[in-house]
Amino acid sequence: MAQFEFVDNGLEDQLHYIEWVRSIMEVRARGAQPLALVRTYGCQQNVSDGEKIKGMLEQMGYGFTEDPEEADFILFNTCAVREHAEDRVFGNVGALKNVKRRHPSVLIALCGCMMEQEHVANRIYKSFPFVGLVFGTHSLHHFPKLMYEALSVGKRVFERGVDDKKVVEGIPVRRDGDFKAWLPIMYGCDNFCSYCVVPYVRGRERSRKPENILAEAGQLVAAGYKDITLLGQNVNSYGKTLESPMRFPALLQEICKLSGDYWLRFMTSHPKDATREMIDVMAENEHVCKHLHLPFQSGSNRVLKAMNRGYTRESYLKMIEYAKKRMPDLSLTSDVIVGFPGETYEEFQETLSLIREVGFTSLYTFIFSPREGTPAAKMEDPVPAAEKSAWFSELLKVQEEIAARRCAAMVGDTLKVLVEGQANQNGVLCCRTEGNIVVETPGTLERIGSFAQVKVTEARNWILKGAFVDA
Ligand code: SAM
Ligand code: SF4
Repeated sequence: MAQFEFVDNGLEDQLHYIEWVRSIMEVRARGAQPLALVRTYGCQQNVSDGEKIKGMLEQMGYGFTEDPEEADFILFNTCAVREHAEDRVFGNVGALKNVKRRHPSVLIALCGCMMEQEHVANRIYKSFPFVGLVFGTHSLHHFPKLMYEALSVGKRVFERGVDDKKVVEGIPVRRDGDFKAWLPIMYGCDNFCSYCVVPYVRGRERSRKPENILAEAGQLVAAGYKDITLLGQNVNSYGKTLESPMRFPALLQEICKLSGDYWLRFMTSHPKDATREMIDVMAENEHVCKHLHLPFQSGSNRVLKAMNRGYTRESYLKMIEYAKKRMPDLSLTSDVIVGFPGETYEEFQETLSLIREVGFTSLYTFIFSPREGTPAAKMEDPVPAAEKSAWFSELLKVQEEIAARRCAAMVGDTLKVLVEGQANQNGVLCCRTEGNIVVETPGTLERIGSFAQVKVTEARNWILKGAFVDA
């Protein structure tokens, strides 16, 4: 018996709110199209949620702007993973006070992970009285209702902590890109790494049904999307919550059966659940990018245990060894935390030695940030911030050298790239390899959004320069 409710037609009970908001705004904007500014902070899951919010706003009749002075609705979709991200949100919300003073009719709203935290919602309520609507990640599917209440009742609307037991389908998506797309395959997280706030703000792990994922992937490929990233906090545990469980490698294999010219990526893979089977599917399917993002967080077994990560340095390296054997050109990226409470300099050196041993293409590097309500926030943390910063710089230097060496070794190679946009105004385009490395190449704008072959002519640190081979 599944613990989660699957809602196939997620907006059905919201349709009348959508129409009511539309009518209210038709009157308020005096016939002009109302405009929304939606700003998303944080990870790709948040970006994906932001695309759904924009899809719903579009149905409510809104157009979009980046200018707060002309917006009728301003929404910040927030991130709670680190203190720095939260501080940025508080700073930027504070700056909206003057916008509200100049334009009293603007509705200012906050949503996303930060808003699922009670202490944050309370702080917003008390200190930011000009914020009219606040809702957490679990309220996304009734955003039109909340919007209607905020616009019509004239009172502030706050909602958090409701209903994390649903997998809701059918919410319209207004994608930010025309050829790169995010495709969530699951929501929430059950891992409770001791430093991480995600399980508290995104609820229990729950998977979408494979048929819904396949249908969405099929629509994306048919619409010409070229680079599709499957999203989940731990894609390797995909399917465990389904009534007929399905494992991630099987899902990947099914998606690869879609014919077309496209790349598939996925993130994030958790090392404790990564399997050789997944590596085999990657190796055997041309659609799957030979790029694996496998966050190791620390190279020390003691620290990994304190982080509650569920794997060891040795098991991580064994999986990497197998992946490299199956895919000699594999590009590896990872997340790493410096200065976890109680980490010693010797343990930090174990992280550096793991980085050297693996030879990552790039790393997302973080200094530990205590998050209220997590076990790590209560741990003894004797290393001063300045010392952690010095370790952090040491790590960056090691990684920069590795990345530069890896890029230098690619000079002379001819690679398939996706042309993503302009690198600058001087006729240079920004392309990306399947291994997620940027290649800057002279070329004309009509190439944007398509695949091409590029010969690498030069490496500048972690960026490659090249020329189209068919130019
Ligand atoms: N689910 C993914 C995984 O387990 O690899 C990661 C999701 S988390 C949003 C992204 C990254 O943020 C983590 O891999 C970790 O490196 C970093 N992170 C999370 N909590 C943190 C904290 N309290 N302090 C510093 N970095 C943190
Ligand atoms: Fe956070 Fe760990 Fe879940 Fe990743 S797996 S979201 S780091 S608790």
